[in-house]
Amino acid sequence: MKHRLRWPRTLASRLSLIFLTSLVLAQGLAVALQAYERYSSAKTLMLGNFERDVATSVAILDRLPAAERPAWLKRLERPNYRYQLDEGAPGQAMDSGSEPTSVQSMRMTLAPDYALSFRDIPDSRPHYQAHLRLKDGQPLTIDVRPSVSPVSPWLPVTLAGQLALLLAATWLAVRTAIRPLTRLAKAVDNLDLKQHPVHLDEQGPTEVAYAAIAFNSMQGRIAAYVKERVQLLAAISHDLQTPITRMKLRVEFMDDSPDKDKLWSDLGEIQHLVKEGVAYARSTEPSSEASCRLQLTPFLESLVGDYHDTGKDVQLAAAGNLVLDTRPQALRRLLTNLIDNALKFAGAAQVQVLTEGGCTLRVLDRGPGIPEEALAQVLQPFYRLESSRNRDTGGTGLGLAIAVQLAESLGGTLRLYNREGGGLCAEVSLGPNPAP
Ligand code: ATP
Ligand code: MG
Repeated sequence: MKHRLRWPRTLASRLSLIFLTSLVLAQGLAVALQAYERYSSAKTLMLGNFERDVATSVAILDRLPAAERPAWLKRLERPNYRYQLDEGAPGQAMDSGSEPTSVQSMRMTLAPDYALSFRDIPDSRPHYQAHLRLKDGQPLTIDVRPSVSPVSPWLPVTLAGQLALLLAATWLAVRTAIRPLTRLAKAVDNLDLKQHPVHLDEQGPTEVAYAAIAFNSMQGRIAAYVKERVQLLAAISHDLQTPITRMKLRVEFMDDSPDKDKLWSDLGEIQHLVKEGVAYARSTEPSSEASCRLQLTPFLESLVGDYHDTGKDVQLAAAGNLVLDTRPQALRRLLTNLIDNALKFAGAAQVQVLTEGGCTLRVLDRGPGIPEEALAQVLQPFYRLESSRNRDTGGTGLGLAIAVQLAESLGGTLRLYNREGGGLCAEVSLGPNPAP
């Protein structure tokens, strides 16, 4: 299987990769150039010395009487080469194409006076020997063992240190570049104009400070824009209430007729719309209602009791007693909207209280439920399902939108899901609450 190299997904890993690769390459190139330079100058120097030394040693041996030569061999020996007064070890004639530079040096100094031949000696550490005959016919072998130039023990340590420094510098640079971006993304993600406007710190490098200032002013502008719209909705809804009440009064004084009934019912619908409009506008603003400790079971019993008084089928299943720190009017309004929906679309509702891992309130029904793909949309203002657009279940489509706002303002969440066996469950999770 072919593995294609993939560009990393995060900006941090991309920047790290670019920085680290280029820094390591640049550093590697600098070290290699330095090493090469050092190697070639050391080689030139060594070859010069070698050339002079071999010429002198051969000249000394040649001028010495044959009997004294063996005693001089030890003195003329060097770490990389030594002299033998024999034919040398058997080996292969050296290929002229692969001659080391030291062979060429020897040729230059000795070839004019002596007949030279070179042999590669295969050994545990391969080396070569140069053969010549001294003027009196005695054979002389120069055994040369080229050495690998030693690496200083501190070199790997220094290289590792440099690499660690590069890694640390890359990490620091990438973190400095990415952090403000992550902070900005988080702030945008958590943008909640009603509850907690996030004010980004406007300090730091110019670009970061500029982005923070731009974000803060954008947030302010959006908040002002939304507030203006909501205030407009509230004002229109509020101001419509008086003429509607006046119209209702006038209709009441009309003679009985089918038209009067239709007009009355239309006015009722308009009044409902206006009331819901005001309620929605209010629910989006920070509430002025104070939080208090609320005994949940008696509170729910009274709520359900009100429905029983008007002959509605609402059941309550609450075990034990939970004390909540909450705003009772907001909670009542929230549950009323959910129970009203259950009654409207299913004819009956059941209210359940769960106390595990916080407080959860459920409003259940056995009605038609909501298609899965519309579960999120029905939470939007003025969204109603086509099937419910009939006179019997007439509404404005604001009930659930208000419920969402109220649940959020109580520090909780609202979730809808279809029940097994049919019907809808609207679940309000209020989060952990200290029970006494
Ligand atoms: P309003 O509550 O403003 O009088 P509404 O009840 O139509 O009008 P929402 O409460 O926001 O508006 O509900 C939106 C839509 O979601 C409804 O029109 C309905 O189609 C669907 N819906 C809500 N609750 C249920 C339910 N319990 N069963 C089936 N469908 C529901
Ligand atoms: Mg409703």
